Amino acid sequence: MLVLGIESSCDETGVALISDTEGLLADALHTQIDMHRAYGGVVPELASRDHIRRAVALADVVLEKADRKRSDIDAVAVTEGPGLAGALLVGASVGHAIGWALDVPVIGINHMEGHLLAARLADPKPEFPFLALLVSGGHTQFMKVEAFGKYELLGETLDDAAGEAFDKTAQLLGLPYPGGPAVSALAEKGTPGAVELSRPMIHSPNLDMSFSGLKTSVLTAVTKAEAPNDETFRADLARGFVDAVTDVLSQKLIRAMRMTKMTEVVVAGGVSANKQLRAALTDVVRRRRGRIYFPPMRLCTDNGAMIAAAGLARLQSMTPEEIEACRRSTSFGVKPRWSLAGR
Ligand code: ATP
Ligand code: MG
Ligand code: FE
Repeated sequence: MLVLGIESSCDETGVALISDTEGLLADALHTQIDMHRAYGGVVPELASRDHIRRAVALADVVLEKADRKRSDIDAVAVTEGPGLAGALLVGASVGHAIGWALDVPVIGINHMEGHLLAARLADPKPEFPFLALLVSGGHTQFMKVEAFGKYELLGETLDDAAGEAFDKTAQLLGLPYPGGPAVSALAEKGTPGAVELSRPMIHSPNLDMSFSGLKTSVLTAVTKAEAPNDETFRADLARGFVDAVTDVLSQKLIRAMRMTKMTEVVVAGGVSANKQLRAALTDVVRRRRGRIYFPPMRLCTDNGAMIAAAGLARLQSMTPEEIEACRRSTSFGVKPRWSLAGR
């Protein structure tokens, strides 16, 4: 079975082809980062328009890379939510149009399920059940994953996501959007402990977190500094920020492993590309004789491969009647707000 996956929830158009027997055959990505940079963040209308320009062209690119024809596609998976409504509608429209034209089923995928399953595109791949930390631009959640499709939310951020804190900190430091890679590169030049930032909720007796206070303490540090533009100060501040985020997530992961008694851990989402965080969490898990898994580096942030992979897994879990119902369906929608699991 050959599945075409399409991701368009935010500022990346991602398309990929996955086969049930041969794995990921090809993927292609167009990021709009340069387009949105001038505005310091994603402009929804510009994002939608650009997805329109890219989606079909990228589908042709992956077919060519994989040396397959359109008629070889057996099913299409699209990101149904969460994300920007207009951006989601573009990917869903293109996906459903392809599905109707080819007379194949189209299924809607939760973007966060995609991030989570991207870890299964790595080698070795995690087997169910596992404990998951989803850490991205819009989410920071601990989840118990019993099996494919069985997600239990254990705790999450009560305000900003960790990725959002990276992006806002970057803005305060005058670094380009998106902030994650820039802040973490600057942090590598800083001295640990030179700037200590608050770690809200680090000792709260649950798996909830808070990152908006951290952004405020970065702002306070910048405002109070005698020379806020001094390179050493900026690097130390970035280092203090990354260490605070890493510390909170490490402590919460220790608590989550203790609470669930699970030792197989998956960390996914854009911030899981962070080297300092990867190193710290790997250490936490190894010390507890567990195993930790991350998506391949380039599949941590948004991409089509994760949607194709989640789509294939969903199709394999459906009955022939359910798949047939998808094929015959003549309507579709998107879910801009859609949580993968409730408590
Ligand atoms: P969501 O997936 O929650 O809907 P999103 O799709 O915008 O949100 P992702 O694509 O998963 O988020 O990740 C983007 C986020 O990851 C941004 O906030 C970005 O700053 C952050 N990020 C990317 N690379 C790194 C890195 N190396 N270090 C830290 N953060 C990073
Ligand atoms: Mg993005
Ligand atoms: Fe994402």
